[in-house]
Amino acid sequence: MIIVMKQGATAAEIGAVIARVQELGATPHTIHGRERTVIAVVGSTERIIPDTFSTMPGVERVATISQPFKLASRESHPEDTVIHLDPHPGLPEVAIGGRDIVIMAGPCSVESRSQLLETAHAVKEAGAVILRGGAFKPRTSPYSFQGLGIKGLEILAEAREIYGLYIITEVLTPDAVPVVAEYADILQIGARNMQNFGLLHAVGRVQRPALLKRGMMSTIQELLMSAEYILAGGNSRVMVCERGIRTFEKLTRNTFDLNAIPILKQLTHLPVIADPSHATGRWDIVPDMSRAAVAAGADGLIVEVHPRPEEALSDGAQSLKPERFFDLVQQVRRIAEAMERGIVGSTEVVERAR
Ligand code: PEP
Ligand code: MN
Repeated sequence: MIIVMKQGATAAEIGAVIARVQELGATPHTIHGRERTVIAVVGSTERIIPDTFSTMPGVERVATISQPFKLASRESHPEDTVIHLDPHPGLPEVAIGGRDIVIMAGPCSVESRSQLLETAHAVKEAGAVILRGGAFKPRTSPYSFQGLGIKGLEILAEAREIYGLYIITEVLTPDAVPVVAEYADILQIGARNMQNFGLLHAVGRVQRPALLKRGMMSTIQELLMSAEYILAGGNSRVMVCERGIRTFEKLTRNTFDLNAIPILKQLTHLPVIADPSHATGRWDIVPDMSRAAVAAGADGLIVEVHPRPEEALSDGAQSLKPERFFDLVQQVRRIAEAMERGIVGSTEVVERAR
C-alpha cells in the first residue's frame, strides 16, 4: 500500500502517518518526490486498513500496489530514480537514470596495475565516466583466475585518483561488503549471486549505490524481487542490469533479452543498465547490441575493454580493444541523440581531447 501525501503536507502530518504505520506493526518507507511525499507501507501489513489513513490530515489518497515488488515498482514511485554517486574529491558529479546515458567500461578482471591503468586511460579518453574491473571473481572453475582481491581494490582506487573515474567492482560475499564499499563507488552484485539473499541483505545495509545483475536463469520479476531486498534493507540507490539469459542458442554465450529493457522501464523507477559483453560473449557484436540497448531505453552500459584481449585472464573473447570501444561510444552517442539523450560527462571528454 502507498499513502500519497498532499502537496505541501507538513512534516508533522507526515510524521503522524509514519508513526501510525509503525504502531500497526508495518514498516514505512518515505519517498520524497519532486512534488509530493509518498509513504510506502511494507512488512507486516495484516493490521493495515486503507481507511485508517485516508482521513488523516495531509493525506491525499491511499492506493494498493499490485506488484509484489513494492518499493521497486513504478506504482509506488512514478518518477524515475536518479542515482547520484557519492561525490569524490576532484571528480565531476555523476547521475545515473537521468536524461543522459552513463558509460561504465574496463576489464573483466583487474589483472595487474599496468593492465588496469592502461585500460582506465583508454576508457576515459573514449568517454566512460565509471571504470569497471573485478577484484573478486566468481569463476565457474576453482582453478581459473580468482582475482587479485584487496590488491585489486587498491589498484582500482589508484586508477580513480589518476584518471578521475568512479569505480564499480563486484562483491561476492556478505562479509566483504564493508571493505568493498570502502573502495568502490558502486557495488556490483553478479548474475550468480542475484538470489544470494544474505548478500542482498548486506548490500541493503550500506549506503553505497548497487548494480544488481539479472541471474542467467532468472525472470524479470525475480530480478525486481531481488532489488526489493536491497531497497527494503534501507539502501535506495539500486540499478538493475540486463546481462543476457541462458537459452538453447550456442553461437552466443547468452541471449541478450532486449525485451527486458523496456519492460523494466515500465515496471520500475530504478535505472536500467545493459551489459552487452556478457549478454553476447562476442566482441564482434558488442557494439551492435550496445546501440540496440540504448535505442531500447537503457540508462547506461557496462562494457568489457582490454588492451590485449588475447592475453586476458577472463572474458577475452567478449572484450573490446580500446580503439573499438572508442568507436562504440561514438555510435552510441548518435543513438542517444536520436533519443534526445546525451552521454554523461561527454562535454568534458570532448574538451580534453582538443
Ligand atoms: C562480470 O561483470 O565480469 C561478471 C562476472 O558478470 P555476470 O555476473 O553478469 O556474469
Ligand atoms: Mn566478465
